[in-house]
Amino acid sequence: MNLRFLLVRVTTGYDEMSVANAHIKVSDVDDKHLCEAKTDVNGVKELELRHGHSVVNVRVSAPGCIDEYIEDVRIDDEYTTFLPIHLEHSADETRFLDNPLPIWPPYPGVVLRRGMQGPSIAQVQERLNELGANPLLATDGSFGPMTEAAVMAFQAASGLMPDGVVGSNTWNTLFSREPAPQPIWPPYPGVALRRGMEGPSIAQVQERLNELGANPLLATDGSFGPMTEAAVIAFQRANGLTPDGVIGPNTWNALFSRGSSPIPTPAKTIVIDPGHGGHDFGATFGSRRESDDTLRLSLAVRPILQAQGQRVIMTRATDVFVALSERSAISNQNNADLFISIHRNSSISTDANGVDNYVFTTAPSNAIQNAFDVLDEIVDVGVQNNLGVTRGNFAVLRNTTAPAMLLEMGFITNERDNQLFDQNFNAYATAIARGIMKALNEVQPPQRYFFYTVVSGDSLWSLAQRFGTTMNVIIQLNKLTTNSVTTGQVLRIPG
Ligand SMILES: [Zn+2]
Repeated sequence: MNLRFLLVRVTTGYDEMSVANAHIKVSDVDDKHLCEAKTDVNGVKELELRHGHSVVNVRVSAPGCIDEYIEDVRIDDEYTTFLPIHLEHSADETRFLDNPLPIWPPYPGVVLRRGMQGPSIAQVQERLNELGANPLLATDGSFGPMTEAAVMAFQAASGLMPDGVVGSNTWNTLFSREPAPQPIWPPYPGVALRRGMEGPSIAQVQERLNELGANPLLATDGSFGPMTEAAVIAFQRANGLTPDGVIGPNTWNALFSRGSSPIPTPAKTIVIDPGHGGHDFGATFGSRRESDDTLRLSLAVRPILQAQGQRVIMTRATDVFVALSERSAISNQNNADLFISIHRNSSISTDANGVDNYVFTTAPSNAIQNAFDVLDEIVDVGVQNNLGVTRGNFAVLRNTTAPAMLLEMGFITNERDNQLFDQNFNAYATAIARGIMKALNEVQPPQRYFFYTVVSGDSLWSLAQRFGTTMNVIIQLNKLTTNSVTTGQVLRIPG
């Protein structure tokens, strides 16, 4: 339909409250963007459209919009004689709202400089005005000394070379997302906040501490408990303040300022245990030794974790023999947060293949989750077969206090597994490190599933029946590559 003006009124359905600042996006029959605007305090916006535009879509979303928020979008009849317009309001559109992306003009392809004229220069002048050019520029499309000075001021503020000419860099910076607006920080409440107190100021502090990396995340319940206090102390330490856990004006102002340092995540201790070594080659295949593969891979994982600020301890870093009891002892003495033993599997059959990860027979759910975190990442790189997470009574798992896993990085007795091991070597090392980082940062166990240990007689089909799901769901959730399960295998079951 053709129309020149569109009056959009946004109200909530049940009480007809006006929705201020609702974002309106108008597009044509091909869903081509025509214009957008925000409703005023009365929930109203009049939009002027260029003649001939055929409007069919009006989408509306509101800040923090939940689906139910906008119940009613009205286009006033007096303006729109060609109804019906297709109306849409969607929570998905909030993405658009949170970060409105105007359609920016493309770089004109020529460097704009003093003395030039044209519509591109008028666009630049208009944009500089929006960004606070002072004094305001005439948007006359004529690149004079005032425009040049404003360009230089903008360049200086944006970390660009302040040469006063608009090349592609300056153009693209000018016509990019709005520079982040200065946040309006809450003022100091006038009283020192300390443990035991409650109130909205404390909720603001909790929220801010979370933004700054409080670990574990704080409940923003406005109640100043020991967790909040610990986070305040960590923040104070990171910012050179007296670490007393009390929020006086100094700590408050440091919290609510742009320059404050985030709370550093404390380093975790990871013990990497390269299987076998010295006179114990582990499994062999031709001249290939398990003990070499495990050491090589472990040594590749170590620096990736160290680069993440983690403390990494190797049970061996060279080709030496280390007793099994010693490996667990190293982990226990260092109070490790996570223990990973790296091996290669082997079989009499050269057909046997695949990657699997073991946890102890009585491993708790956090250790199982850790094992899945690592295995999932490896499977995502690509494996011949995902044999899953399985419970096993290995000495290093039995005797280690930390959550422990024993990873079998494919069969050394299978050509293809060896090929994958070599081809994907760096990707596997990164995947293992990433899985470990994920495991270390997990605060809560995921709620989407529970762990079930397969017993004799179980099949994927019988488990799907029992837990009211389908084989496919279980296969996907566990990234399984076969339909068979083995006794002791741990499965993620949706629930
Ligand atoms: Zn081994």
